[in-house]
Amino acid sequence: MKYVLAGASGFLGTALARDLEADGHEVLRLVRRGPTQPGELRWDPARGELDLSALGDPDVLVNLAGANIGRPWTPSYKKVLRESRVSTTATLAAAAAQLERRPVLITQSGIGGYGLDCGDRILTEDSELGDGFLADVVRLWEGALEPARAAGCRVASLRTGVVLARKAPAFQLLSLPFRLGVGGRFGSGTQYFPVVSLTDWLRAVRFVAENDTLSGPVNVTLPNPVTNAEFAKHLATALHRPALIPVPAFLMRAVLGEFAWELLGSNRALPTRLQSANFTFHHPTAPTALAAALT
Ligand code: NDP
Repeated sequence: MKYVLAGASGFLGTALARDLEADGHEVLRLVRRGPTQPGELRWDPARGELDLSALGDPDVLVNLAGANIGRPWTPSYKKVLRESRVSTTATLAAAAAQLERRPVLITQSGIGGYGLDCGDRILTEDSELGDGFLADVVRLWEGALEPARAAGCRVASLRTGVVLARKAPAFQLLSLPFRLGVGGRFGSGTQYFPVVSLTDWLRAVRFVAENDTLSGPVNVTLPNPVTNAEFAKHLATALHRPALIPVPAFLMRAVLGEFAWELLGSNRALPTRLQSANFTFHHPTAPTALAAALT
């Protein structure tokens, strides 16, 4: 199959491109700088610019572009976070809607769209999106798929938990205190913490791309959700370190600002649509996903 990847230079994009190419798929990478190697095509999503004729006849477009969410959410940076996701999705949707043979359009999305703190409530794809900045971003991000859907493309948004892999910047940050022997739960630790292994995330993208029955939001998280305290315990065990030093919520809010809610809020999402479509997780639990991330 031919894939067009936006955000191919990022952590997930690099992993997906490598995975697809290893299996003989063709990958065209969209880049915002001038192309430097074959297989790259320049686009300017902020201006909605993408050369349709250079896309060829792709089967699947995947959007993994978006400014780094781990930086302080100042009002001006919030705009960058929002625009970088909406403009990229909108540009791909406009292209998909004009291609003669309608491709599948998949965008990455955030599991945080269900709301800042959903407690113990089970969240499926049928749950309402919540309130707050991330929920608003997810509404607009996924809403930007609409022109493609209206034109007859199959569209899907992957509401993804934190992807666990040794080289994932988020996982490196999470595991550093544990490696130093000063790791522990965040805040009370009772909040559910949505994660998924990189292997399963890659398999989920391809499963959604190839499975005609899947469209709309698709949760990509462990089928056996864990609380943050459980996750901390499993991570410590996997690294043969203690998990003794909880990080107080007030400190996290002081250092991370609004982003702290990503780690302190509770999100007990289930991958209901994937499982209904008979997707099987290679790493369905936190210990198995952590073991995979650390090998
Ligand atoms: P990275 O930060 O590693 O990569 C992001 C990509 O987005 C880069 O390839 C970059 O491409 C592009 N980008 C950065 N800023 C902009 C901008 N202002 N406008 C357009 N494109 C931009 O992210 P990940 O690979 O980790 O994640 C990809 C997406 O998935 C993000 O939206 C992220 O929020 C989301 N996500 C990630 C999870 C994870 O655990 N990693 C979990 C859930 C969601 P360029 O070369 O053009 O700069």
